[in-house]
Amino acid sequence: MTDPAIETSLAASVSPALAARLSRIGLVRNIDFLLHLPLRYEDETRLTPIAEAKIGDTVQVEGEILHSEILQRKRRQLIAQLRDDTGTLHARWLNFYPSLPPRLAPGARFRFFGEIRAGFSGIEMVHPRISAVSESDTPLPAALTPVYPTTAGLAQSALRKLILAALRLPPPPELLPPELCAHLGLPTLHNALSLLHQPPAGTDPATLAPENDHPAWQRLRFEELLAQQITLRRAWAARRAQTAPVLHARADDLAAQLLTRLPFQLTAAQERALAEIDADLARAHPMQRLLQGDVGSGKTILAALAMLRAASNGQQAVLMAPTEILAEQHHQRLTQWFAPLGLALERIAATGNRKQRQAALQRLQSQQSRIAVGTHALLEDPVALPALALAVVDEQHRFGVRQRLALRQKTTHSVPHLLMMSATPIPRTLAMTHFADLDCTTIDELPPGRTPIRTLLATDARRAEIIARLAHACASGAQAYWVCPLIEESETLQLQTACETHARLQSELPQLAIGLVHGRLKPAEKAQVMQQFSDGALHILVATTVIEVGVDVPRASIMVIEHAERFGLAQLHQLRGRVGRGRAQSTCILLYSPPLSATARDRLQVIHRHTDGFAIAAEDLRIRGPGEFIGARQSGVPILRLADLTRDEPLIAPARQLAEELLTHAPERAHAIAQRWFGATEALLNA
Ligand code: ADP
Ligand code: MG
Repeated sequence: MTDPAIETSLAASVSPALAARLSRIGLVRNIDFLLHLPLRYEDETRLTPIAEAKIGDTVQVEGEILHSEILQRKRRQLIAQLRDDTGTLHARWLNFYPSLPPRLAPGARFRFFGEIRAGFSGIEMVHPRISAVSESDTPLPAALTPVYPTTAGLAQSALRKLILAALRLPPPPELLPPELCAHLGLPTLHNALSLLHQPPAGTDPATLAPENDHPAWQRLRFEELLAQQITLRRAWAARRAQTAPVLHARADDLAAQLLTRLPFQLTAAQERALAEIDADLARAHPMQRLLQGDVGSGKTILAALAMLRAASNGQQAVLMAPTEILAEQHHQRLTQWFAPLGLALERIAATGNRKQRQAALQRLQSQQSRIAVGTHALLEDPVALPALALAVVDEQHRFGVRQRLALRQKTTHSVPHLLMMSATPIPRTLAMTHFADLDCTTIDELPPGRTPIRTLLATDARRAEIIARLAHACASGAQAYWVCPLIEESETLQLQTACETHARLQSELPQLAIGLVHGRLKPAEKAQVMQQFSDGALHILVATTVIEVGVDVPRASIMVIEHAERFGLAQLHQLRGRVGRGRAQSTCILLYSPPLSATARDRLQVIHRHTDGFAIAAEDLRIRGPGEFIGARQSGVPILRLADLTRDEPLIAPARQLAEELLTHAPERAHAIAQRWFGATEALLNA
């Protein structure tokens, strides 16, 4: 916190051990204490007559101790009976300090706070919170009691005291324009914090439940979303300010030549995306674009055209894929497209012939070669790309911020343009938030002539029937993928299962040619199996999830996924997207073994009902929540503490607009807002 008004540091006023515990839950600066908000409240501002206390209610009663004793039942326990003018109740402790029993002497006045339960004789409270009351009227608290998220070794009472101390310091400056708050019906920061930390007596705790969107909560969520927008737009602007090679388009360049040779016409959506990419590349600042399009929407050709533009301008381009199989496929596809144009490309694999690899690296280093295809291994040190002008990252959801940064170190003179491609469509709310540091282009149309995929759900019990149908289909020329179950705990086990499945299918279907591909094969072996399948020499390809992304064999029209209940929605959608690429009717069979958990059933129903990737992504977001959806650790984007992208969607657009305004007209205020909420984490984005 850069605010000079708050000098006394609360964290510095406690013991180092406590300070360490506090910092574990993010409580370091004074503002952090203020922004640490209650999970719920307890109402100790009122007293309930014992006669009116109902079983299940959480109440506070006050009275005089009639009697207390330590019983030696099955377990030692302390019992105390409390009486007020209307009745009596018992309190019971199974654990207690030796100092407690003497305090509960007959005649002493106490307040007990806790949940009313049915006891042996009348109503009782187990482990109530108690406070002694003096004869001469101890006042009731004036505010509801907040219950904060805490951590081991950090007592609620200690946390409450520190937060109360933070509230007594001069309030943090108000950073939002008052007119906007008035317009949105939001209180000031000070009022929102006071209300949430100390709701006045008489407030119904239910109105402050997070799902009830109380204006005080909305105020803080809005400011947090604003801080996130500011952080992301600043990261965007920082990268935008750098210099990148200008890649001009010419009427007869390699990209134009490829376009005239393609056996198909770009869809309108591809044309639009291409125009946006071309405009980006022609600027002297790095493109930072996310190209999203459903599985099979035709992103690769756009990547190819962009790479050709780099080559035509005498620069270099790389295409990076998350797996060797996918890199190999891209290499083959690009070779088909580029070879007739007389443009060579290098395939850099992690393993393989060392001499060849050396030679390829040398050609890239000397700029004799302009295009390289590989996995993220391309980012490793020995790969020098002195004229790198464009990096295309396929299936960007597997590509972290760290790798994004490594890319920049490949060249010294300028920053390459970055095109990230994703087949996991990002729901609008996430696109506006976690991806606000990228410009987004969406291909919202599939190439014509595709027949929708039929999706069937079947229990394991129908395996034999499915195999019989598969045999029949393959006999009449169909090709199928058989995806083996995901075994998260062990790759070895997964591999073993894949081998067993392959052996079993081969013995059940001796008349068919069945191949096997998995993550442990050498790249050349993988490539060979894929080639056989793609040439039609194999009827069935048994595979682990290595085929999840990007694999393109248009003739394959059947996919069986075993133990589909173990896969995530995005993964199922990706896998299913391997079929339905040709004109033939395609079928995806999801085998599952009951009983299903509620979420597994939910997932399978979603994938059964929907084929549109956006609808599936939206459902995925609903089921899993945004943090999981994007893999927050990977994203490198500050994690939201209060706001929830689904619930608070209406706040996002105004936050985005205000972020733009502040960044333009009041950059220092924008900075202060980002600091207040994200402090140190922002550094990562600007690194
Ligand atoms: P993805 O977006 O999933 O990466 P691909 O780029 O692999 O999709 O494209 C899927 C298939 O569609 C490929 O075989 C590709 O050549 C083909 N394709 C791409 N664009 C078109 C188009 N406009 N018309 C017809 N086929 C196309
Ligand atoms: Mg692809």
